[in-house]
Amino acid sequence: MIIDLGYAAPDSLQKALQILKEDPSCKVLAGGTDLLVKFYDAREKMGNVLDISRLEELKGLEIGKDKIFLGSLTSHEQIYRNPQLQKIVPFLCRAAKSVGAPQIRHQGTLGGNLANASPAADLAPPLIALDAVVFLAGPEGERSFKLADFFTGPGKTRKNPDEIISGVEFALPKGDFRGTFLKVGQRRALAIAVASLAIALNFQDGVVKNIRLAAGSVAPVPLRARKTESILEGQKLAGLPLDKAADQLKKEASPIDDIRGTGDYRSQVLGNLLRKGMYELLSQEGVRENG
Ligand SMILES: Cc1cc2nc3c(=O)[nH]c(=O)nc-3n(C[C@H](O)[C@H](O)[C@H](O)COP(=O)(O)OP(=O)(O)OC[C@H]3O[C@@H](n4cnc5c(N)ncnc54)[C@H](O)[C@@H]3O)c2cc1C
Repeated sequence: MIIDLGYAAPDSLQKALQILKEDPSCKVLAGGTDLLVKFYDAREKMGNVLDISRLEELKGLEIGKDKIFLGSLTSHEQIYRNPQLQKIVPFLCRAAKSVGAPQIRHQGTLGGNLANASPAADLAPPLIALDAVVFLAGPEGERSFKLADFFTGPGKTRKNPDEIISGVEFALPKGDFRGTFLKVGQRRALAIAVASLAIALNFQDGVVKNIRLAAGSVAPVPLRARKTESILEGQKLAGLPLDKAADQLKKEASPIDDIRGTGDYRSQVLGNLLRKGMYELLSQEGVRENG
């Protein structure tokens, strides 16, 4: 048994996976900004803890010719501050910047944000809109899922207890790519989303192409809104059916009432975020309306 004091901080992924194989009930600890709060509130039982923060294999960002890979230990601050990401996918950086406050952004990680599987996780909508794939390292090797299919319910994912998220990958956007992330919270900082929306698309010859919409805090999981996408896909920029699309988006969502807002309010906000987001993308420089 490698872990015998209730806490282990191995220095290799292989050792970490061995520990999880021996004790899959071990709590994986990355930045601790979710897990330690749950321990403190007694929402999660203290048990053996596997601290993965020393695993070099999970650190860093690779920006290749065709793909971008983000290691699961990448912090929100590292995403937000990365000059290349700011140039290529500024809306992902905007989402990272919207997380909590500086302390949380420095400490909290991408892997923790996704494994925690909150419907309000801020990195999920932009990454789903980028059609990202999440990689899991486990005893039998590596598995991967489209991030849009990874979440199965509040706090639940397709990850097995003996697996560790190693990172996330997405294709480098091509052509006249545009993206935005909009979030409404109860205040400007330290606010969990009441509703959020990421939009990614190409404007090609005055037409919307490859649109992907992903919403947060309006369903049990971060929601890819495919039916709404199909209303906007292939439409000319002049006269986009935004009202119809906003109505469909509200139908695809199933927001609940909670301390941050009612379901009705969330639904209204979501429709408005779609209109606002599309106007923002349309008003960016270089958009040609051929229609
Ligand atoms: C005050 C405050 C404000 C916050 N504001 C926001 C906000 O605005 N937006 C937002 O999205 N979140 C927010 N959060 C939540 C949290 O900060 C983020 O979700 C953060 O990214 C979690 O990362 P972490 O590394 O701290 O995760 P941890 O707390 O270490 O872990 C979270 C969960 O993920 C598991 N886990 C972590 N890494 C891995 C991995 N690589 N593989 C497998 N399992 C793993 C852990 O076992 C645990 O179940 C806030 C939290 C606090 C305390």
